[in-house]
Amino acid sequence: MSEDRFKSCRYCGNRIHPRTRQCPYCGEQIGVGWFSAACMLLVALVVLGLLIYAICRRTPIPKPKQRIGESALVISAKW
Ligand SMILES: [Zn+2]
Repeated sequence: MSEDRFKSCRYCGNRIHPRTRQCPYCGEQIGVGWFSAACMLLVALVVLGLLIYAICRRTPIPKPKQRIGESALVISAKW
């Protein structure tokens, strides 16, 4: 593990992994413009929403019916 493999964040100066796109210390995007970052965030949100929607639609985990009703209520209340 050589330190040369790490590059320093230009915002906070901490050493970060060169393959990471976001600084774990200050949260700044590394090597990604704000526009593509916003696009990725938007896509991630849409995918996350679809995933949660798909999970809510079906009940993959066999549990007592009361539990399923409660968790579904909590999830739908958050959204
Ligand atoms: Zn940083």
